[in-house]
Amino acid sequence: MSNAKYLILLGAPGAGKGTQAGILREKFGLAHISSGDLFRENVSKQTPLGKLAKSYMDKGELVPDDVTIQMVMDRIARPDCAKGVVFDGFPRTAAQAKALDVALAKEGKKINAVLLVNVRDEVLVERLTARWTCPTCGSVYNRLSSPPKIEGKCDKDGSALTQRDDDKPATVKNRLTVYYTQTAPLIDFYRNAGTLRETDGEQSIEQVQAAIVKIVESL
Ligand code: AMP
Repeated sequence: MSNAKYLILLGAPGAGKGTQAGILREKFGLAHISSGDLFRENVSKQTPLGKLAKSYMDKGELVPDDVTIQMVMDRIARPDCAKGVVFDGFPRTAAQAKALDVALAKEGKKINAVLLVNVRDEVLVERLTARWTCPTCGSVYNRLSSPPKIEGKCDKDGSALTQRDDDKPATVKNRLTVYYTQTAPLIDFYRNAGTLRETDGEQSIEQVQAAIVKIVESL
């Protein structure tokens, strides 16, 4: 029996899943599978999958299950996943959750814990809409935690900062609606499976990390 751990970070966009997944990857030597990052890679390389995904991402909608599941299954098949995985942003629908269970079961593996990161809506909206990028040099700012010296202008070259399409308020609202209708039902799915563990995502990054590490170490 291998002691590789298979973990899911569950929570709304802006809950801090990506940050915590990066920390878990480092600490426990897990592969980090972020479906959002995989899609963004495809978008920047302008692959057929990227072109398809972009049309959904820009609106804050989910990319269809069949292509999403296929993309993640291809990633899981890579050798680095044998030492365990932290899934971030996947699964996001019941069909994805079931496909993941089936794929892991075929390898004699299962999800060990689902780490639900709870953050209230008003905090999520504030976090997501605070991110601004320089179109000239690519610098990223956060209006709350790392603002530019002059509002709306890049510190390095003075360009007017722009917002990622899916971080604009209307799209952020839609991403949250999509989360509550399509992804939040997974909370009960995993609660019934006995794997759900909840954490308060409004604490500092270090406090959330400590809570999650404690859970993972107890598995
Ligand atoms: P994220 O970076 O996880 O917020 O993902 C950005 C966007 O990628 C989402 O708003 C969706 O359009 C798409 N996406 C990421 N993961 C999934 C998934 N598991 N299922 C469907 N669409 C996804």
